[in-house]
Amino acid sequence: MKIKTRFAPSPTGYLHVGGARTALYSWLFSRHAGGEFVLRIEDTDLERSTQEAIDAIMAGMNWLNLDWDEGPYFQTKRFDRYNAVIEQMLQQGTAYKCYCSKERLESVREQQMAAGEKPRYDGHCRDNASNHDEHQPHVVRFRNPQTGSVIFDDKIRGPIEFSNQELDDLIIRRSDGAPTYNFCVVIDDWDMAITHVIRGEDHINNTPRQINILKALGAPVPEYAHVSMILGDDGKKLSKRHGAVGVMQYRDDGYLPQALLNYLVRLGWSHGDQEIFSLDEMKTHFTIEAINKSASAFNTEKLQWLNHHYINHLPAEEVATHLAWHMEQQGIDTTQGPVLTELVKLMGERCKTLKEMAQASRYFYQDFSEFDADAAKKHLRPVARQPLQLVREKLAAIREWSVESIHHAIQSSADELAVGMGKVGMPLRVAVTGAGQSPGMDVTVHAIGQQCTLARIDQALAYITARETQN
Ligand code: GLU
Repeated sequence: MKIKTRFAPSPTGYLHVGGARTALYSWLFSRHAGGEFVLRIEDTDLERSTQEAIDAIMAGMNWLNLDWDEGPYFQTKRFDRYNAVIEQMLQQGTAYKCYCSKERLESVREQQMAAGEKPRYDGHCRDNASNHDEHQPHVVRFRNPQTGSVIFDDKIRGPIEFSNQELDDLIIRRSDGAPTYNFCVVIDDWDMAITHVIRGEDHINNTPRQINILKALGAPVPEYAHVSMILGDDGKKLSKRHGAVGVMQYRDDGYLPQALLNYLVRLGWSHGDQEIFSLDEMKTHFTIEAINKSASAFNTEKLQWLNHHYINHLPAEEVATHLAWHMEQQGIDTTQGPVLTELVKLMGERCKTLKEMAQASRYFYQDFSEFDADAAKKHLRPVARQPLQLVREKLAAIREWSVESIHHAIQSSADELAVGMGKVGMPLRVAVTGAGQSPGMDVTVHAIGQQCTLARIDQALAYITARETQN
């Protein structure tokens, strides 16, 4: 049997981390088994579904590189199919038309509540529909079995049982002719030959209803696995209050898709005590059985740790393509200056996110007219003039601009003045980067280039002079 899974988001908002994790688990399960993965957009709720949300979901899936073999299917394009099945069920008697008025349903409900019962449809039209003119307004209900129970063996939670008495006759088509959500899911899972339904635990209550309909249709019942929810680091259900929950927000915040995937796979799944998983390793080791039953709490620090890892361990070319987007976002033209792969190697160790890297790398590509106030106050003082002048002279004299020759220029300046390296290096750092922090001076100066370095040292010397005359 070919394993086939699906991700079936409702397009009512962006792809959030919970959805992305469900998508990842479904995707991994099919990839692990050499099966297929379907993307299905559940857009039957016309009021809440938007094209913007569809675009955001697709953007999230694409950014995470979760590719699908079939789809995207749209439920709104399949209404004819759903209606054809409903007609067939009406003929076979597994569904019936219900003409009960709102008022009647409301009064039944009130009576049940008053009697301390759980409100449910009382089955009034179940065997009584022939008394009505067919064209009177009606809904179509599924004839749910009235005895026995539905048991399914949830692949994460173990056996779950629902008594059929708890499940009333579900409306499968509304009076306006629109098939309802649970019904569409059933027909889709059937038509698309889904073998494993991996979805959020908020759907557990839908599962027995869906199984009953599948059985009434003589359709195979897939395996089900309900994934627990993600909590914020305060133990409450993850929501906007916790900051970024939309996947694309993580891109904007400077995370690599690999880091987020690795983070999400471990958030609720484990393989021994391994923390770092390449995509191939995830595919190799993934099993549903190793998904954790309990809810998992989001931990931004761990995500940052993984991001830092991937910034430094993925091929620099790959990181650079993501970094290029951030540079552009920050309006930094990188056509002049170090190539981005070099920048990744230079800055990687110091940065947890690519956004941070882009922000901290501006000086490699753009001149500046102001120094970081604290750094300048501390390091661009009159005592720095002599070391800066000397190192400028030596840097200007370099014929072959290399990290070694630069290193030698700085070192020999310090030696000649009989001071520590820092007495030369720190003023030089503030002069050429404008800031008090940067990678090693030799590599930084090398990346900035000879001409630009000399011009910036001149700017710093002028600053020192101006400061002196002010005092
Ligand atoms: N459309 C549902 C959701 O976004 C998922 C339904 C399912 O996976 O069966 O929550």
